[in-house]
Amino acid sequence: MPQETYHGGPRSKIPWGPTINYENCTSCGKCADYCTLGVYETEEKDGKKRSLVKKPDNCVVFCRGCEEQCSAGAITFPSKKETRELIRKLQKTL
Ligand code: SF4
Ligand code: SF4
Repeated sequence: MPQETYHGGPRSKIPWGPTINYENCTSCGKCADYCTLGVYETEEKDGKKRSLVKKPDNCVVFCRGCEEQCSAGAITFPSKKETRELIRKLQKTL
């Protein structure tokens, strides 16, 4: 079940989610198979499974599970430190 809030603030304001570098991606589809939260969608093309980040807000804040599945090193996330600071700032506006 995707999070709608994170520590009392709207999840949609927190820019945490995977980014795929298609220069490294081998279209193996493992990231999309691994994550059960609908963050990824898969596009079949020329017999390969190209993963697309369709719903980054469904990603669990600070999870990096799919990154470990990617042997091509094609998945990155925002800086944890910067995201924590942003969350702290958001909490002050609540
Ligand atoms: S696991 Fe990595 S290489 Fe495989 S589809 Fe996902 S991003 Fe691409
Ligand atoms: S980091 Fe976790 S929740 Fe986010 S897309 Fe990857 S496996 Fe899914």
